[in-house]
Amino acid sequence: MTCTDFLSQLTDYFDGQIPPALLEEVRTHMAECHHCEVVVNTTRQTIEVYRGNEVYDVSDEFRERLHSAIMAKCAGARKRA
Ligand SMILES: [Zn+2]
Repeated sequence: MTCTDFLSQLTDYFDGQIPPALLEEVRTHMAECHHCEVVVNTTRQTIEVYRGNEVYDVSDEFRERLHSAIMAKCAGARKRA
């Protein structure tokens, strides 16, 4: 699983709609990829804040921003490696 694959599963992951086989892959990727682990933690916190304010909605715009932020980070990490 690549970071892109991971990110495309992220909404389903948070919605609890992810198939068990994919969930396993997502967890494996999270264990191996620090960037995606950070994204998951940040997203979870964000969702909890939104839920607390009863405006929970992971909009397309939010996903877009998240996606570009992560891809930028992963690209930077690859360059340093
Ligand atoms: Zn990743």
